[in-house]
Amino acid sequence: MDKLTYRDTRDYVAIDVDKGIDHRTGQLVHADAVAPEGYAVLPKCKHCKHYQQDEGTVGKCMADEQEFIAYGDMAAITCRDYTQV
Ligand code: SF4
Repeated sequence: MDKLTYRDTRDYVAIDVDKGIDHRTGQLVHADAVAPEGYAVLPKCKHCKHYQQDEGTVGKCMADEQEFIAYGDMAAITCRDYTQV
């Protein structure tokens, strides 16, 4: 997996769309800054093997026989079919 940004880790608590708190250090960080090595991946569709990216920000979930529209940034913590790539 490529380097993670803070917004894609479990170790980040958002304050607003642009910034938040690094849960491990307590520091204020930008959401799109690269997180240090070893930070845990936040389950999102874009980190799932069933996700297929289309154009732009829209993609498809291919987990079931009937595919449906999904977004890469969609939180997947409660998805029973989530399988991290
Ligand atoms: S299985 Fe769940 S997490 Fe994976 S792409 Fe489909 S909806 Fe997203």
